[in-house]
Amino acid sequence: MYAKLKKKYGQNFLIDKNITHKIVNLISDNNLKILEIGPGDGKLTYEIIKKKPQKLDLIEIDRDLVKDLNKKFGNYNFVRVINNDILKHDIKQCYDLVISNLPYNISSQVLIKLAVMQNIPKEMILMFQKEFAIKLLEKNLNAINSIINCFFCIKPKFNVSKNCFRPIPKIDSCVLKFIKLDQSLIKKNEIDSFIKFKRYLFSYKRKSLGNLLKKFDYKENFYLDIRAENLKLNELIKIFRKINL
Ligand code: SAM
Repeated sequence: MYAKLKKKYGQNFLIDKNITHKIVNLISDNNLKILEIGPGDGKLTYEIIKKKPQKLDLIEIDRDLVKDLNKKFGNYNFVRVINNDILKHDIKQCYDLVISNLPYNISSQVLIKLAVMQNIPKEMILMFQKEFAIKLLEKNLNAINSIINCFFCIKPKFNVSKNCFRPIPKIDSCVLKFIKLDQSLIKKNEIDSFIKFKRYLFSYKRKSLGNLLKKFDYKENFYLDIRAENLKLNELIKIFRKINL
């Protein structure tokens, strides 16, 4: 079966039942509206169903897998299988929970999409390759944690050995839980320019802020000697608002 797996879709399937149980045990409640991204062969999906969701949408890009998913879950009236690319899919529904063992090659794009969309999910339980999880949890600011922490509090849960997947990937993974902040740190109408601003700062991360801010109308003397990575998130947002992009 694994010979048929498609590398381009990051198809490393979880085969360890203890880990699927551990992931699903992080779901805080029954009766939730849940989105699972990339259900694959549906092993995690079976466990999610035991949590009696009110609604469970499955978005899977691979048409071959979608056929099997329809066979496996077609009898559950609260399950909807959607054959689409999560990056192109217009998510209109408001979900209580997004859960996924994300394809590693699009982790960052999917995460940003989920954080800035209209109806931000209340919680997310997501598995990433360990290096990416470390970036998210890093104390220093970087291109990814500076945007995600504006919307979610990120909690590390547990590591997952690469041996729990087939085919075996190169690196271990890590499960994180994301809890939506009561109040996002940036407003909807600031998102696009904030993303551009932080992208600019972190593409020259060795330069001091003094250097980087020269091209903007930033009249303050604070923070000029340090690098963007050494700012606190609220300080970064303060500077962003001062230069009024
Ligand atoms: N959930 C399964 C598991 O835990 O074993 C599979 C996880 S596998 C790492 C990633 C899954 O995401 C695959 O089923 C793959 O086909 C699907 N996928 C990859 N890119 C996708 C995309 N852009 N949109 C939706 N699903 C995608």
